[in-house]
Amino acid sequence: MTLIVYSDRFLEHDQFNHPENSERLVSIMRTLRKSKTFEKLNIISPQPLDEKDILEVHSEEMIKKIRELSETGGWIDLDTYVCLGSYDIARLAAGGVVMLASKIISGEDENGFALVRPPGHHATKNRSMGFCLLNNVALAAYSISKKNKRVLIFDHDVHHGNGTQDIFYESSKVMYQSFHLSPHYPGTGDIDEIGEGDGEGYTINLPLPRGAGERTVLEAMDEVFIPIAEEFKPDLIIVSAGFDSHYQDMLGGLRLSAESFYKIICKLKSVQPRIICSLEGGYNLEKLGMLVLSEILAMSGKELDYREKVEETVYAKDRIDELKKILKEYWSL
Ligand SMILES: [Zn+2]
Repeated sequence: MTLIVYSDRFLEHDQFNHPENSERLVSIMRTLRKSKTFEKLNIISPQPLDEKDILEVHSEEMIKKIRELSETGGWIDLDTYVCLGSYDIARLAAGGVVMLASKIISGEDENGFALVRPPGHHATKNRSMGFCLLNNVALAAYSISKKNKRVLIFDHDVHHGNGTQDIFYESSKVMYQSFHLSPHYPGTGDIDEIGEGDGEGYTINLPLPRGAGERTVLEAMDEVFIPIAEEFKPDLIIVSAGFDSHYQDMLGGLRLSAESFYKIICKLKSVQPRIICSLEGGYNLEKLGMLVLSEILAMSGKELDYREKVEETVYAKDRIDELKKILKEYWSL
């Protein structure tokens, strides 16, 4: 059975006219409730993460800033808002992903999806940015890696997860794999950013040109991401599930479909069936629910009977070859 982490409290973090608003979760839950799969899902409520656990990944100064702004409401930067109570909601989002990771690693259930907000993958050790307050996925990966387990984070958001990369850049226990549109916000994730020190070879970035889509992404998975993941042997896979890489997303530029997300999860599941997804970006309210559902169907081993007619306009084979060449030094590719 697939676990779903959700709370109505996530709707309280909201900003009118901002793409990262509460309607995203409302539309996802509406689609899930209407689906046949809904009754087979086990919906669980998150608990807020303790501040001492947050401090293992983020700086005291950063936490203080979110906490203070949460008392008045305000902006961290031009894109990142904080509402009254946002600090507690961010702790609840992070706590939800941490709890889900721990349930899956302990074998309590097979897989799960954390439908949480605000998102997390742009939040670095010291800085909230890009709609993200705390790095939910990094906090969960850290909590598992502390138990001497290996974690693979796979990030399919259209934006590079600079925050997650930053947090694990020198770690060989947590591997970060990402494909993303480039050039695009936040400007990081070049092909030669591969980690440092013990973490050299454990950060894998595939920057893609506008118009690249399923053919390129699946080939990159077959040629690079999956063989490396198999060699790394993760005990848990955490997917930074950003759906702004869908072809109809207003903040995007890549050309993935619902079926592409379904196939991505199937490929990851073949490496390690213990897998959780955590919501990052994705701003097309008409499509978002269906895209989340596609990944839930893939995790639960059900078929997807939803098709979108879309093809990539740019086949970025040269990028895959270049990445392979760089990583050959570290992995048997
Ligand atoms: Zn994004």
